[in-house]
Amino acid sequence: MALHAGAAGVTLLQPHWWPWTLSALLADHLLLAGSGLWPRSNLLGPNWTHLPPVASTAGSGIAPAAVAITIDDGPDPEVTGRVLDVLDEHDATATFFCIGERVERHRALARAIVARGHEIANHSYRHLMSFSLLGPRGMAREIARAQQVIGETTGEIARFFRAPAGLRNPFLEPVLTRANLQLVSWTRRGFDTVYGSAGRVLGSLTRDLRDGDILLLHDGHAARTPSGAPVILEVLPQLLRALTEAQLTPITLRAAFERAAAIPAPVSAVPGARS
Ligand SMILES: [Zn+2]
Repeated sequence: MALHAGAAGVTLLQPHWWPWTLSALLADHLLLAGSGLWPRSNLLGPNWTHLPPVASTAGSGIAPAAVAITIDDGPDPEVTGRVLDVLDEHDATATFFCIGERVERHRALARAIVARGHEIANHSYRHLMSFSLLGPRGMAREIARAQQVIGETTGEIARFFRAPAGLRNPFLEPVLTRANLQLVSWTRRGFDTVYGSAGRVLGSLTRDLRDGDILLLHDGHAARTPSGAPVILEVLPQLLRALTEAQLTPITLRAAFERAAAIPAPVSAVPGARS
């Protein structure tokens, strides 16, 4: 906006400079649009692409090396329950970026995610592919409605948001700030909505795997293996074994936040939560 005002001022004072002022405006818009199409960019506001570093004063012992497994687009009645079983078998926790209207349709599953020690985060209400084209009010509605459904269903207030397909625009950051939500993208993803090869997905997720990584998988919209299984169900047990071998503990984003320097306020139950 400052650039637009500046360009208007310059054009009034120096009309013959118009090719330069116009070029500056175009470059600005290209930069903003490009940043919105680049999910791991920090140019449009704070964006977790890794877990925050552990506070040096946190506790007396050294925090174990950790990664976050994030699972998007559920809850899914066919897949999510089985994902929860696999996580239980490995004593692992994950963060589920849930779609609001799916939480509404599968409330028991959403409650099971939280009851079994995992975290639910906000992945918008409808998961619109046009989310990044919405204005500030449209974005605020999508986010607030998902936030409300998650809260009334699970009793938990979501602290993290991921945009559908990771795409956004400059209106998103002020909306997230007002809603007290932190944007999270990922360190690497397996493209498991596209590829049904468990080996390929696992290879993308575990390449250069290291402390602080945020990994992205999908329980909703999961691609199928040649045998017809949702690919996450073949990938997840192997991924969890690889993490154990690498001595990396899977933790939720909330746990990562709490062990980092900025300790959030304790999560309070939402009054009137349905049980
Ligand atoms: Zn998604």
